[in-house]
Amino acid sequence: MTGVKNKAILITTTEELLDLREKIAHELLEKSKLHGCHERQTIGLVPTMGNLHEGHLTLLREALKKHDYIFISIFVNPKQFGPQEDFDRYPRTLIQDELLINKTISINTNSTISEFVGSSFFKDTSIVIIFAPQSVQEIFPLDFDTEVAVNSLTKIMCGKSRPHHFQGVTTVVYRLFALIRPTAAYFGQKDYQQVQVVKRMVSDLLIPVKIVEVPIIRDEDGLALSSRNNFLSKEERALALTLPRTLQKIQKILQKRVENSTTGAVTSATAITMALNFIQEIISKDTNWDYLEIRDADNLLANISGESKRLVIAGAYRVGCTRLIDNIVLN
Ligand code: AMP
Repeated sequence: MTGVKNKAILITTTEELLDLREKIAHELLEKSKLHGCHERQTIGLVPTMGNLHEGHLTLLREALKKHDYIFISIFVNPKQFGPQEDFDRYPRTLIQDELLINKTISINTNSTISEFVGSSFFKDTSIVIIFAPQSVQEIFPLDFDTEVAVNSLTKIMCGKSRPHHFQGVTTVVYRLFALIRPTAAYFGQKDYQQVQVVKRMVSDLLIPVKIVEVPIIRDEDGLALSSRNNFLSKEERALALTLPRTLQKIQKILQKRVENSTTGAVTSATAITMALNFIQEIISKDTNWDYLEIRDADNLLANISGESKRLVIAGAYRVGCTRLIDNIVLN
């Protein structure tokens, strides 16, 4: 098989994936024999549920900077949706996704791509493979009987109203890691709790994958890009801005905590109390909030009194039938 010029390879079955992965292992071995190990001679994974937008494509662009081989998985994972959630209506747009990926590759790589197998020299380009299983059984065979679960981190924040969600995420991510054996996997900070949960799984289970966090990509008006934004009517789209705007207001209150008290700024403890009071006021007035919290950005604990701590302001907001999440990290 040869790499197509500036075009991703599309595969839809696990059998094809395993076959390709073996070829890549062989290719990497040959390259390292010829040239020694090179940082780019690695495999990146960008796990997605498709309906790609600039947020996803930014993850891909980051991976393109680093790896010889990049897998972008497109799989709407039923295990991470609750029974009353939007699994059935989740947008599935593979043809459009493939076009966007190919456009991103052609803009972000050199005009020539190395031969996929048997290349006799190394070039600064990547081979991109779209793994888009067309049936759930490709990932979870009928006799699949295992769940991978992180405990305490998944009981808070989004986990309160979506009790099985993160177990679905860690189970599919673990399986993708086992199938693809990537060197690094790219996740968006948009799903802040998800990244912390995946990092915990990787650390606890000693999985040899580097987790790379990519900042949130937003629309011009500040709304974080999300495939679920497609569900919003014009009025709902306007109401959805409550989410980023409220996070920004809390950020402003909290930022006072790092300002010098001799200049009249409030102390850390006072700023945090003010922010927490503000949150109480907001959520008591607007029942669309699923949660709105300030937590320690490193361990997601609610104890945020220490001055040196990095904080995350995170929230989930319901607009009609759509639930949106967002966050701001304060360093
Ligand atoms: P999804 O397809 O929604 O499961 O998202 C796949 C990956 O893209 C996850 O790691 C998300 O955090 C990331 N992602 C989604 N939206 C954004 C965004 N607006 N900015 C950055 N990353 C994002």
